[in-house]
Amino acid sequence: MQDVSPAATVSAGRGPDRPPVDAPAELLRRLRARTGADPVTHVERVPARAGERAPWPEWTPEQLRAAFARRGVVAPWRHQSRAADLAYAGRSVVVATGTASGKSLAYQLPALATLLADPRATVLYLSPTKALAADQLRAVAGLELDGVRPACYDGDTPRAERDWIRRHARFVLTNPDMLHHGILPGHAHWSGFLRRLAYVVVDECHTYRGVFGSHVAHVLRRLRRQCARFGRTPVFILASATSGDPATAAGRLTGLPVAAVTEDASPRGGVTFALWEPPLLPADADATVADLTPVRRSALRETADLLADTVAAGVRTLAFVRSRKGAEVVAANARRALDEAVPGLGERVAAYRAGYLREERRELERALLHGDLLGLASTNALELGVDLVGLDAVLICGWPGTRASLWQQAGRAGRSGGEALAVLVARDDPLDTYLVHHPEALFGRPVEATVLDPANPYVLGPQLACAAAEAPLTPADLELFGEGAKEAVDDLVAAGALRQRPTGWYWRHRERPEVDLRGEGGAPVCVVEAATGRLLGTVDGGSSHFLLHPGAVYLHQGVSYVVDALDLADGCALVHPEEPDWSTHARDVTSLTVASVRSYVDAGPVGLFLGEVDVTSQVVSYQRRRIASGEVIDTRPLDLPARELRTVAVWFTLSPESMTSAGIAPADVPGALHAAEHAGIGLLPLMATCDRWDIGGLSTALHPDTEAPTVFVYDGHPGGAGFAERAYRTAAQWLRATRDAIAECGCEAGCPSCVQSPKCGNGNNPLSKPDAVRVLDVVLANLPADHPPRQPGPADAPDAEPPGDGERDRMLASGAQE
Ligand SMILES: [Zn+2]
Ligand SMILES: [Zn+2]
Repeated sequence: MQDVSPAATVSAGRGPDRPPVDAPAELLRRLRARTGADPVTHVERVPARAGERAPWPEWTPEQLRAAFARRGVVAPWRHQSRAADLAYAGRSVVVATGTASGKSLAYQLPALATLLADPRATVLYLSPTKALAADQLRAVAGLELDGVRPACYDGDTPRAERDWIRRHARFVLTNPDMLHHGILPGHAHWSGFLRRLAYVVVDECHTYRGVFGSHVAHVLRRLRRQCARFGRTPVFILASATSGDPATAAGRLTGLPVAAVTEDASPRGGVTFALWEPPLLPADADATVADLTPVRRSALRETADLLADTVAAGVRTLAFVRSRKGAEVVAANARRALDEAVPGLGERVAAYRAGYLREERRELERALLHGDLLGLASTNALELGVDLVGLDAVLICGWPGTRASLWQQAGRAGRSGGEALAVLVARDDPLDTYLVHHPEALFGRPVEATVLDPANPYVLGPQLACAAAEAPLTPADLELFGEGAKEAVDDLVAAGALRQRPTGWYWRHRERPEVDLRGEGGAPVCVVEAATGRLLGTVDGGSSHFLLHPGAVYLHQGVSYVVDALDLADGCALVHPEEPDWSTHARDVTSLTVASVRSYVDAGPVGLFLGEVDVTSQVVSYQRRRIASGEVIDTRPLDLPARELRTVAVWFTLSPESMTSAGIAPADVPGALHAAEHAGIGLLPLMATCDRWDIGGLSTALHPDTEAPTVFVYDGHPGGAGFAERAYRTAAQWLRATRDAIAECGCEAGCPSCVQSPKCGNGNNPLSKPDAVRVLDVVLANLPADHPPRQPGPADAPDAEPPGDGERDRMLASGAQE
């Protein structure tokens, strides 16, 4: 979490070996001079902003004012004071401002003032990570206020201390998982704390999105319910990164009306922001589309070179890389390049990611703060819980998924009063390519809204079971849990989990329901070095089939391991150290059936649908690719169980006639749909806060359920996560951007920047780039720009008739999935 105190601002510590290049413009000039063709497609100057102070609210106790003054805070920024005033007056409030804008003070001020004024009151603080809670504990404890007794209560808290914390701590810091698994089920032990609860602080609340966010929304409702039993209605104070419509998202998360404070009054250094497209590689005569041989220099290699160059120039640089593997590769390549230039200089670069053990993380943070390290390659794990601001340069390797994340990452750059450089390096994929050529889609646009759906029945049912196990559900509770709660309770009764009595619904079992907040991912899988038994780190269950299958190359702190065995029952993968010169890429196969249609648009030869689907997928093989060139060495089979998924999908159908009229030969229909599907998945993150790994797709020239050529795009989470729904609501915009991204790509037959997909189960075959544009032209010509959704009658489900469908061409019965 960021700290407002100037005293806490990072200093460079041990000075760089060479004089730093001060002006970001000069640094950028040197970076772009390195290559032949200019890789920079756009430069945006984000001006510096002066801060605006406000007086301390008059209710601020003198002791608190003095404590903040000792920390160097002379007065709050205006947004801090506004949020604090609202919360102190009893309004739930969300403060959604930029990185390092001092959101902590906005909740510390009213919470601590209340604890000082009312010696009985308590505060519960929730953060998405233990590391962030530990930082906040240090910050609050450092104020040395009488009788506040702050304490962390999480999985690491020793048993012996837990009882003391429940009885005596008045500022308890924990996380939603602990609230869900520990505090709420044990509410009898917490009654003293809960009956005096004045504030609930929800930090970094934008991270509660998708399925996880929907679960957390109900955990908070369960907390409100327990407080209400004691006649208590705590005020919620939420802190969010800059996000679109934070009041609505916070309202969905808490179930309460929430006021938003969004005007950031903290000072900010200026940033020169460059969009960077790696150069095209020389054409390879042997390459075929199916090889997925990169057409551009990879963003990882480009970022590694940029990192080496900035570190060599003495510039303190943070490189954000999307995947854990990628961060390791960037650090390793930058180290190698630096050591070749000046032996030993490579030591000034390291990698960082969430799976690291706490001690390793803290050591890396400390080294960068003190300047022992000049370059750090990180996954977005660093977005949470680390007080690193004031860097000279930030490299962002690949679009981070949302404008909100982009600004949060870029916000790490810029010492107070100084200028900094941020560079977005495009990956070879449709969305990145589209964005570096459409800067208007990045700059001067509001950031995305956080999407969550508490009405998801796959979340609501299990959460109501947890609530009932804590205390019988009453009719009034149904209102608290919102839309769909009555249906979910009826289902639980029918399934024998709840018993209905005149006084309410009772949990029937002795054991508590087992519910995992992190969605279908399941328990994390431990990565263990077979020879030593050493725990290297963890991988979330949902990714384990992809990342830890036998033969997978797994990187940890730049050291490469190969997986010997994945034991799904025990939740552990055994690995040995080995450094092959290839990387591994898992592939899955998918089939899909339509279960029901929620809503549709009848647009002549085109139909657009939203509904529930059943998806069966299985990781069946993996490719080995040369790290240096991306060349495919071979594809090897895997024997992993299939996984079933009931989820939400958006799909569109076209009549075969409309495709023929558009000039698509029957034999090219599968390739046309497949290419449109890939690009559509690639561009969907422009509309929703997801990435392409959150969604899946399937296209077919004839689907048995739609009886027409169809492209499906579905949420990769049980019950859906709101992404496909968002695609349906914004279909015209989404498919327009998809069409433009394909048509504007400079390649001839399709490339990773337009229609190829890195996770295609069909080896990117067949794909027809020009026909994909024709397909989307037909859809867009017929689809109304602003479509009124229709609710289907019983006759529509589950067999959604494609409107305007005519004869179907039996030659086209071939399918493809991403
Ligand atoms: Zn292309
Ligand atoms: Zn595919």
